[in-house]
Amino acid sequence: FNIELQKSGKMEVISQLAASVAHEVRNPLQVTRGFLQLIGSKNIQLNEKNYMALAINELDRATEIINDFLSFAKPQKEEMTNLNLNEEFQHIIDILTPMARQNNGSFKVHFNGKLWIRGVSSKFKQAIINIIKNSIEALPNQGKIEVFGYIYLEEVYIVIKDNGEGMTEDELRQLGKPYFSKKDSGTGLGLMVSFNIIKSMDGDVEYNSVKGKGTQVTLKFPMLKI
Ligand code: ADP
Ligand code: MG
Repeated sequence: FNIELQKSGKMEVISQLAASVAHEVRNPLQVTRGFLQLIGSKNIQLNEKNYMALAINELDRATEIINDFLSFAKPQKEEMTNLNLNEEFQHIIDILTPMARQNNGSFKVHFNGKLWIRGVSSKFKQAIINIIKNSIEALPNQGKIEVFGYIYLEEVYIVIKDNGEGMTEDELRQLGKPYFSKKDSGTGLGLMVSFNIIKSMDGDVEYNSVKGKGTQVTLKFPMLKI
């Protein structure tokens, strides 16, 4: 199943994302502020603990949104460089291993030789982390995530395979649409961000999935000859 990436400029993508994150984070922050104000007021009648729990939930939500958007975006380091995928994935796996362990999942990485592509390291990592986070969240007990990297016809392929809950055709069609989420506390923004970044790198993404069996994500990037 192929996802057609729309064409749009890099600045357009960035400003669209920035506007969206500002809007999304404002809501939980305002709700939290309201709760704190209530707690601080003298004539509070409801259980204060309820308000605190709600406020904490809202703050967690704000954090989740920021994580999906720009946990790796460092404004001062936006230049494209030559990315060594072996190194990039070392970082990515290090970051995600604690989360995978919590869900009783494990990683296996199979890279065929040295793979180089062109891109902004922080953005690339954000794009991949959002994709792999979904795999982790979809895992059953004893879940497995495998990552393959190889060159085929002068292009660099990255395949991410999980044995998680999988998706229906209808769910596949909606991937990357802002706010599409099947999760109780999902943002529905992770893949929109990933797809935009991949597009800005002249990359391509394809999802294959079978409900109840698992999901395979195939990424393709122009190969850098070093
Ligand atoms: P969120 O994770 O906040 O829900 P995303 O944009 O990251 O938002 O993902 C959108 C939806 O796509 C998820 O809610 C989930 O239903 C589905 N999805 C994405 N990746 C996978 C996967 N590997 N396995 C199963 N479902 C997935
Ligand atoms: Mg997600």
